[in-house]
Amino acid sequence: MEHEPVIGIEVHTELKTRTKMFCDCLNDPDEKHPNVNICPICLGHPGTLPVPNKEAVEKVILVGMALHAEIPAYSQFDRKNYFYPDLPKGYQISQYEHPLVKGGYLEFKLADGSERHIRVTRVHLEEDTGRLAHGTSDMGHGTSTVDFNRAGIPLMELVTEPDIRSAEEARSFGEELQLLIRYLGVSDADMEKGEMRVEANVSLRPRGAKEFGTKVEVKNINSFKFVEKAIAYEVKRQADVLASGKKVVQETRGWDESRGQTFSQRLKEGATDYRYFPEPDIPPLVLDQAWLGSIGARLTELPGAKRKRFTDEYKLDEKTVELFIGDADLAEYFEQVVSEMTEWIQSMGDRVERDKAIKLAANYLTVDFQKMRKETAAPVSETLITPENFAELMAMIYEDKISSAAAKQVLDHMFRTGGDPSEIIREKNLSQESSPESLQSIVAEVLASHEDIVAEYKKGKTNAIQALIGAAMKASRGKANPAVLRTLIEKSIQ
Ligand SMILES: [Zn+2]
Repeated sequence: MEHEPVIGIEVHTELKTRTKMFCDCLNDPDEKHPNVNICPICLGHPGTLPVPNKEAVEKVILVGMALHAEIPAYSQFDRKNYFYPDLPKGYQISQYEHPLVKGGYLEFKLADGSERHIRVTRVHLEEDTGRLAHGTSDMGHGTSTVDFNRAGIPLMELVTEPDIRSAEEARSFGEELQLLIRYLGVSDADMEKGEMRVEANVSLRPRGAKEFGTKVEVKNINSFKFVEKAIAYEVKRQADVLASGKKVVQETRGWDESRGQTFSQRLKEGATDYRYFPEPDIPPLVLDQAWLGSIGARLTELPGAKRKRFTDEYKLDEKTVELFIGDADLAEYFEQVVSEMTEWIQSMGDRVERDKAIKLAANYLTVDFQKMRKETAAPVSETLITPENFAELMAMIYEDKISSAAAKQVLDHMFRTGGDPSEIIREKNLSQESSPESLQSIVAEVLASHEDIVAEYKKGKTNAIQALIGAAMKASRGKANPAVLRTLIEKSIQ
């Protein structure tokens, strides 16, 4: 029997806030010394009172708004009871029946171009736990230490409906969510640092069936590549179990990257095992419209809308659009350059194709400029090239005033010291020579000194002309217009 995978995702994200969720300790994920950012509240001392972090509440609501979700007027914190050494209170303050965000959806495209719409069940706010480290003492005994710097850091949990049907789709969902979270400034969402953690609920059912099969939760996945691999492995494993006539066991499985396998960790608890009840130390949150309005006003253009605008307005290909979507600073700079090019485009009339000119600028930015930036690790905001000068250089390339080889030299010079491209071209004597009269003598010399190649060309080896153009280009010290050279050479030989 053919089965289809049914996958739901849970994503935990550490929020970027100044202080922790319920106390004034700093929320500093880069703190290397253990147990520095701690106090009686986040250590769970009896008699202390937690006070919710307004910034964290607002950030979760902002995410909800970006997901087109409902923000209920009433929200409440609950205690989730369980024991673990990294949880000093013996319970975690979380949200159960009344999360900050209900419903919503995220849309994105898969590699094959198909569009996906994944519904979000809820987004709620809770606190992170401490961190355990296991080692060996000088005496050779096993040791375990606990660092509470992370305990009480605001943690956003997002749960999707079981709408996902493949490992690739799960990965794309996670990547799109990460992009959204970064756009909103809610978190850096770095998976390798544990700022974003993905868990997947995976089950199989006969294709076309309505009921769900037994689900397995896969944890400990710390990159999107592994999200895809772990889910693909789990789908295959469950298919094999079912094919052999056995039943899938409901459990939690970890992902072992070195072996490329999931492995059983523990049998899954149900919600009743946590004995959720309303947190008596925190009054319910009542979210008034004025407050929600002020949070909504912070919504900027989101990745989906920007992707569409860049495609429609600039007619860029999908790969280039994605480069800009992933790098908001570069995208902003690109738009400034295009804006600086507008006057020139209009003044040129029919002599410029707008889309072609914009594509030229996009290419120089995403290829050459990006390469220089990566070599120096320079942020876009600190570049010495003004958008006006960048635009001017693009116009000169478009109008064939300089060759592409010379343009790269000019761009490199501009990147290192700034400056006006026309001045740099004059100083370095780089302007392109396009007049046939001045190039004719060079062509004549090159043909005279490369009789063998000319002979080959005459025998029908038309590719040989490249070598002649190359030689003439060299003789002109890179300044000749290659198209003009080609015409002159062809004419001269005939
Ligand atoms: Zn604290």
